[in-house]
Amino acid sequence: MKTALITGASRGIGRATALKFAKSGYCVAINYNKNTEMAESLRQEIKSLGARAEIFRADISDCSEVQKMVADMKDKFGRIDVLVNNAGIALPQGLFTDFGEDDIKSVFDTNVIGMMNCTKAVTKHMVHNKSGQIVNISSVWGTIGGSCEVIYSASKAAVIGFTKALAKELAPSGIRVNCVAPGLIETDMNSHLTHNEKAEFAEGVALGRIGKAEEVAETVFFLASEAASYITGEVLSVDGGII
Ligand code: NAD
Repeated sequence: MKTALITGASRGIGRATALKFAKSGYCVAINYNKNTEMAESLRQEIKSLGARAEIFRADISDCSEVQKMVADMKDKFGRIDVLVNNAGIALPQGLFTDFGEDDIKSVFDTNVIGMMNCTKAVTKHMVHNKSGQIVNISSVWGTIGGSCEVIYSASKAAVIGFTKALAKELAPSGIRVNCVAPGLIETDMNSHLTHNEKAEFAEGVALGRIGKAEEVAETVFFLASEAASYITGEVLSVDGGII
């Protein structure tokens, strides 16, 4: 049975993605950092669907924790077919000049270094198997840049550069690397936004609403599936059409 490792899977887009893969016949490795209860409840939900999932705690910004997680996953599942680099953090909105070095470091440690740690750890298994799919989660801010979201935008632009370059490097090994760039999606990451702020954002969206985690999950699954067998190094926007 094929397996998928999804980082930051205990809630939001990661959770929806884990459920999508489980419903589509994959064994799912649920990575989480802090909330064991939520990760365990997702595992139980997947189990109730008749699929298999295991939880793996690791802070993705810590290379040794990631290496241990991937080794544990390999031991439990025997193979790694898909990696979804979903875990990410954002800062509160604010001017670039008001943030300190620690803010920059924390965002890049998770959104960029964390993604690289996970990719590095799984790639050796995928290269050995001459097959694998990697899907990275960027953001609309990584493609067009967001005022008062400068550090986050820069980290998500790095996700895109990484995707495009790695896709070329890993193509000869039968590994595809793609990226999804969501617009504003209804998750805990945006729980600080008021109803009016969300409505204001939606006015700049052609489809006139913000997105759902499940809509991102469908696109992630598509890029990892055989239906996307001739797609690599691509950035697919799931943003309802930014006007
Ligand atoms: P979320 O905050 O609900 O989920 C993020 C998950 O990542 C959480 O479970 C968190 O614990 C986990 N995580 C954070 N740091 C981690 C670490 N060091 N190690 C392991 N796990 C860690 O947010 P979400 O909206 O579901 O976001 C998922 C991804 O989508 C992120 O990369 C985010 O940047 C991106 N994204 C979100 C939106 C949006 O509007 N929600 C838009 C564009 C892109």
